[in-house]
Amino acid sequence: MPRRQILLFLLCVGPFQIAAPHNAQAQRGHTQRSQQQLAESPKRKSPIPADSIESFQLPPKTAFDKAMPRYPNAWFYVDKRLAKSYLAAVKLVTNNLRSTMRLRESYGPFDNPEGCDFEVTLEHLQPWLVREHRALQHGHAFHMRYYYSALERGKLEIVKLPTKNGERDYYRFGASVHYEVEHYNPNHADVEICPICGRTGEYADLKGNLVELVHDPLGLELVMTGKIRGQVVRFEDQSQRAVGSVDGLKEKFVVQQFLFPAQSGDRNTLRIGIVVLNHK
Ligand SMILES: [Zn+2]
Ligand SMILES: [Zn+2]
Ligand SMILES: [Zn+2]
Repeated sequence: MPRRQILLFLLCVGPFQIAAPHNAQAQRGHTQRSQQQLAESPKRKSPIPADSIESFQLPPKTAFDKAMPRYPNAWFYVDKRLAKSYLAAVKLVTNNLRSTMRLRESYGPFDNPEGCDFEVTLEHLQPWLVREHRALQHGHAFHMRYYYSALERGKLEIVKLPTKNGERDYYRFGASVHYEVEHYNPNHADVEICPICGRTGEYADLKGNLVELVHDPLGLELVMTGKIRGQVVRFEDQSQRAVGSVDGLKEKFVVQQFLFPAQSGDRNTLRIGIVVLNHK
């Protein structure tokens, strides 16, 4: 399988560089392997030498509620020594992300739960206002659903990862993250021609489901890098503060980030990002 040929990406190396998102290309395995160690980070701070998505032993989609439409595209792995329980490991990530990105958490009942445990949103980002498309104008929403209880029920919540010091246990859980027309806009969720959330730019030639191929990778880009299409996303208020990303967890943890092409088998989303938290 071409999954072995992976674009692996340890973040902090600069802009979110990824292969052109052409499914056929990814499936032919043309994506050149590129493994970059952090320039700023000595070797001892890169505990997981993973060079393949297979290292992370992702569970099958059938492990989750049938109501979940898309395979989770963001995965968090937490060194088991960092948390007293699985739920504590989940909260370690979600609480820190909530505060660093100022996320609004919702625990339901939801209009559209998609089988998740809970969800987080940010609204009114990057307003798209153009005179010739008045009826289509909209702000954007960052929207992420967390999935962990199904993994615990299936005893899939702990995996061993190879580290520089031998195998080690990690708690892990998934999230499905996307970027779209904000929820209170009549055009929610799809505006195909939007230069921000639409099938445009590097995504223009992709045929198929807009959410899997465009909204999902955009949401992943934002949570991994704080950017959309390479542009820093800022809150639309006086502060103009950057929204941020998992980068904010680096104050407390050694954070490794990986990005792999997906959209194959039961992984119906363009790319999968993996975030690993280790002891400082
Ligand atoms: Zn949504
Ligand atoms: Zn959507
Ligand atoms: Zn848009």
